[in-house]
Amino acid sequence: MRVLISGGGIAGPALAFWLHRAGAEVTIVERAPEPRPGGHAVDVRGAARGVVERMGIRDAIRTHQVDERGWAMVDARGKRLGAMPADLFGGEGIVAEIEIARGDLARILYEATAADVDWRFGDQVTDLTPEGDVFFAGGRRERYDVVVGADGVRSGVRKLAFGPHREFVQPLGAYGSYFTVPDPGDLDNWFEMYNAPGGRVAGIRPERGGTAKASLSFRTKEQYGRLDRAQQIALLSAKFDKVGWRVPDLLRAMPDAPDFYFDEVSKVTVERWARGRVVLLGDAGYCGTPLAGMGTSMSLVGAYVLAGELAAAKTPEEGFAAYQREMADYVAEGTQLPPGGVEMFAPNGRFMIRLRALSMRMMGVWPMKGMVEKQFTKAEAITLKDYGQLRTQMSNG
Ligand SMILES: Cc1cc2nc3c(=O)[nH]c(=O)nc-3n(C[C@H](O)[C@H](O)[C@H](O)COP(=O)(O)OP(=O)(O)OC[C@H]3O[C@@H](n4cnc5c(N)ncnc54)[C@H](O)[C@@H]3O)c2cc1C
Repeated sequence: MRVLISGGGIAGPALAFWLHRAGAEVTIVERAPEPRPGGHAVDVRGAARGVVERMGIRDAIRTHQVDERGWAMVDARGKRLGAMPADLFGGEGIVAEIEIARGDLARILYEATAADVDWRFGDQVTDLTPEGDVFFAGGRRERYDVVVGADGVRSGVRKLAFGPHREFVQPLGAYGSYFTVPDPGDLDNWFEMYNAPGGRVAGIRPERGGTAKASLSFRTKEQYGRLDRAQQIALLSAKFDKVGWRVPDLLRAMPDAPDFYFDEVSKVTVERWARGRVVLLGDAGYCGTPLAGMGTSMSLVGAYVLAGELAAAKTPEEGFAAYQREMADYVAEGTQLPPGGVEMFAPNGRFMIRLRALSMRMMGVWPMKGMVEKQFTKAEAITLKDYGQLRTQMSNG
């Protein structure tokens, strides 16, 4: 089977890994010139932990794992208003047991597939036909049995095969950015977050190697459309002007960050994930925003299930249908926003900010603890099947 995967983020290479094991000939086309660095620490939770173990990359992840002691909400002077230690929910709380910088995970997945998969950087799909003919920006035309859109929230493949973004992408009235800054030296391995009035949230997370990852997010009724990097930086600087805490340092470091990333916070919902030979995986098909905290886990699990079902099925269409059946409940749970959604994440007024801090202090206490625990059990809402086709190939090497 010849498979083309558009997108070399998390979902794309994870799928390529498994499809190669199942005997497929796999090409990944990635728009960026190399694996994209950057991104906050992402969580590998629940069933996704089983996937990375089966892939044999658990140790590689362990060497890059972020040692985070917990998450704390602070005020403008840095005083703690509430804190959630990492072990509060047995390693499955807001800070998960496996936290790894997104860029490190992308690099590990690239390295796990580089020798066996035809990676093509700096290119993208420009057209598709129902027969499986694919046209590339670089000028090639090739035929594939299956084309996978694993190219993120604004998937190019989805746009070509399913329709315009507005039919599937729901903006939630907020923007977020992530970028690397020098480690301030006093985080003591805690992820700190400051809510400023006006729906603005600043955060800083420890990472390895003398740096930290900053985030700046804000709510807005405006939609800014396409902005270049300079415009994004100018917008964030204006929005966070005169915000206290560590924010002036973060703003100063932002223009020099090697991995500045900025995006609108958007959900993706697609009713049927396959059309003809084309199938969607990861954020391209289902995304609950970074607030839901399940994007990476759903991508890893989705890749395993899609590969397993394709390998077990007689036709791609049969495999696609089984993939959606297996994943449906897990995705329905994993794309749910936490209670209060964007409003609670980035409250506008001081009263709601205090309420957020209070609810954080109560999280470890009955009855809140049980309610919050429910949020994290969704990571377990699927039982991984043991796909013989993947296992046999794996034991063969
Ligand atoms: C640079 C970056 C930083 C991120 N930071 C965070 C974060 O801090 N926290 C968080 O929760 N989530 C973050 N995300 C999103 C997170 O990676 C995903 O939610 C999740 O891991 C699902 O992965 P995915 O592979 O479906 O999508 P992504 O990781 O977004 O990967 C999609 C890939 O497709 C490529 N691509 C896009 N369009 C095309 C095209 N037309 N043709 C070919 N390739 C294309 C992109 O360059 C990217 O490499 C980030 C994504 C990126 C790209």
